[in-house]
Amino acid sequence: MNILTLNCGSSSIKYKLFDMPKERVIARGQAERIGRADSILHHEIEGKAPFTGEQSLSGHREAIERLLNHLIGPEGGILNSVRDIVAVGHRFVHGGEFFRSSVAIDPGVRETLEACRNLAPLHNPHNLTGIDVCTELIPHAPQVAVFDTAFHQTMPDHAFTCAIPYRFYEENRIRKYGFHGTSHRYVSSRASELLGKGREEWRIVTCHLGNGSSLCAVRDGKSCDTTMGFTPLSGVVMGTRCGDIDPALPAHLVEALNIPLAEVMSILNHESGVLGISGLSPDFRDLESAADGGHARARLALTVYAYSIARGIASLIPAIGGLDALVFTAGIGENSPRMRARICAFLAWLGVELDAQGNEGGVPEIDVSRSGSPVRVLVIPTDEERLIARDTVSVLGYDGEMSTGERQRLSPEAVGR
Ligand code: AMP
Repeated sequence: MNILTLNCGSSSIKYKLFDMPKERVIARGQAERIGRADSILHHEIEGKAPFTGEQSLSGHREAIERLLNHLIGPEGGILNSVRDIVAVGHRFVHGGEFFRSSVAIDPGVRETLEACRNLAPLHNPHNLTGIDVCTELIPHAPQVAVFDTAFHQTMPDHAFTCAIPYRFYEENRIRKYGFHGTSHRYVSSRASELLGKGREEWRIVTCHLGNGSSLCAVRDGKSCDTTMGFTPLSGVVMGTRCGDIDPALPAHLVEALNIPLAEVMSILNHESGVLGISGLSPDFRDLESAADGGHARARLALTVYAYSIARGIASLIPAIGGLDALVFTAGIGENSPRMRARICAFLAWLGVELDAQGNEGGVPEIDVSRSGSPVRVLVIPTDEERLIARDTVSVLGYDGEMSTGERQRLSPEAVGR
């Protein structure tokens, strides 16, 4: 059965079409620069030549309509009609305390999602638009929301409580939520499978190191603590985000340096992190080559980042009572052996010993620790979409083959299209 996964951002939409339960990706692609005259559509469909085209996309509705047209079009398409899409799974960034797991979207859930809109003003409104557009364009297909925050809802209160007056939690739900939950869930569960039965329960810190970076302490498959907090601005140093800083610093920038608050927030979100330190780039490939060429601040930025990640890892160990394995994932975690080595060098005292040759490996899903290292170090490519597709199938109860009743419900006559 075909399950469409969608990740709707402010100006981009990424999609994958899975053949489930085989978990085979039969099409993937994205629309970028939505809302501009030079929007870009990119599709890769199994057995067809990849397609990239520039065309104006006025908004998310038009982008999703175009991508559906491509999937069912006579030239590059792979579906007979839109009815071949059985269900849609959406990445939904912030579900607050309302959602502890993925959920089928019905009118009541849609209302609660609306109540979450302002929890993540840069993300949730676009996720909601994606849901509404699919309701209009793929009306027969049930939809499921998979939350970045849900995995972290197992954190104990001593991990998620902010040390500010408690009324802000009671009245305004201000607390640590954590993000990248789908990625942390996927790689920690994969790590437990790869590590096998050696222990009753593995104590793992997963390191999602991409444009946004966060760490998560996982024990017995549950998130016990994480580095991001009320917003994805906090935690470790990132590409353009500052991570944890002195909480009085924004007020100082406003009051002593007369920078308007909105500009301060933009600086902390978009001009800080390794970009801010290096003055060069948020991309670690640029920073590595500049550092090799002697650029002192690129080198400093890389070391600040590595130290911040190592400190973050160490800070999470009390949450799980020890450390059996570290997992690296996402753009930097998967692709930069040098950054993995820098981070692990700060953690040698903890028993983190890398195998220098293995670490260079470039093989997906690999153990890069030295044989006998007290802490295992794994590299596992993340696959949030696969988990979204899996959740969509299981939340809707499609685990086996579809029942006859389900087939009838999705038949053209029943759907009326
Ligand atoms: P993500 O958000 O997971 O897509 O990660 C994107 C980031 O991964 C980019 O900004 C790069 O900094 C980083 N990245 C991707 N490939 C490499 C590489 N080969 N070496 C170092 N960093 C990389």
